[in-house]
Amino acid sequence: MDMGLTGKRAVVCASSKGLGLGCARALAAEGVDLVMNARGQDALDAAADTIRAEFGVDVTVVAADITTEEGQQAVLKAAGAPDILVTNAGGPPPGMWSDWDRDDFIKALDSNMLTPIALMKAVLPGMMERGWGRVVNITSQSVKAPIPALGLSNAARTGLTGYVAGTARQVAGKGVTINNLLPGIHATDRAVQLDTGVTKAQGITMQEAREQRYATIPAGRYGSAEEFGAACAFLCSVHAGFIVGQNLLLDGGSTNSTI
Ligand code: NAP
Repeated sequence: MDMGLTGKRAVVCASSKGLGLGCARALAAEGVDLVMNARGQDALDAAADTIRAEFGVDVTVVAADITTEEGQQAVLKAAGAPDILVTNAGGPPPGMWSDWDRDDFIKALDSNMLTPIALMKAVLPGMMERGWGRVVNITSQSVKAPIPALGLSNAARTGLTGYVAGTARQVAGKGVTINNLLPGIHATDRAVQLDTGVTKAQGITMQEAREQRYATIPAGRYGSAEEFGAACAFLCSVHAGFIVGQNLLLDGGSTNSTI
């Protein structure tokens, strides 16, 4: 299927690794020029070099913390007038509901709610004026099914989801769609980090920790960044213009709900 994206320009935040990289690669495969971002320069350069060589698209890199005002400005300056925005950043740390104070919440809100909102506010007027745009926010399965140890994430991402629900309906008439992708567990560094925690807590091997988690997923495995990226590319495609304000779970069936 031709996604109709050749020659479009996308900003993909937090994209040197994992799910952000999966989105960047899938868009590049459709002929989309990219602005890629992450804090670490080396991994970002390596990812961009591979994408340029593999897909022949133009890639600009901005090494910056996207959760800071300066980072956002640097990325937006490099982006110019993007057609596509994919928001992403690292997730907040786990803990107990009673552990977190105001500063912890402000940090989580900055990363996983206020940063994507600031980026959307910056690019939406131009997209609406040009009559076409796509925004995809990487959130989490925890928006639909809270993960108790990730209360900071549950709170911040649900706030973003509420903002998107209203905003998506205000911009849709101008040819701009906003949707969220909700990852369940995917085989990225984040999964290695989570499973390492389990090996330490339970005194089991990495393989045992993985198999224990696979058993909770009807698909019996973790998702891949490639699958995730393909879903992102579809939501950005010309075929997805009637998909507005949706929350698409990519979780191998692990969220047990009818709708
Ligand atoms: P990952 O493999 O650890 O990759 C994170 C990427 O984001 C890296 O490129 C990292 O590069 C970049 N990054 C992190 N913080 C950043 C910041 N402040 N500014 C700019 N770049 C930043 O993580 P992932 O698995 O792709 O997860 C992506 C998001 O999905 C996270 O919010 C995560 O919580 C959420 N999620 C993931 C899963 C999963 O199973 N993988 C499930 C549910 C939700 P630098 O470190 O160099 O900045």
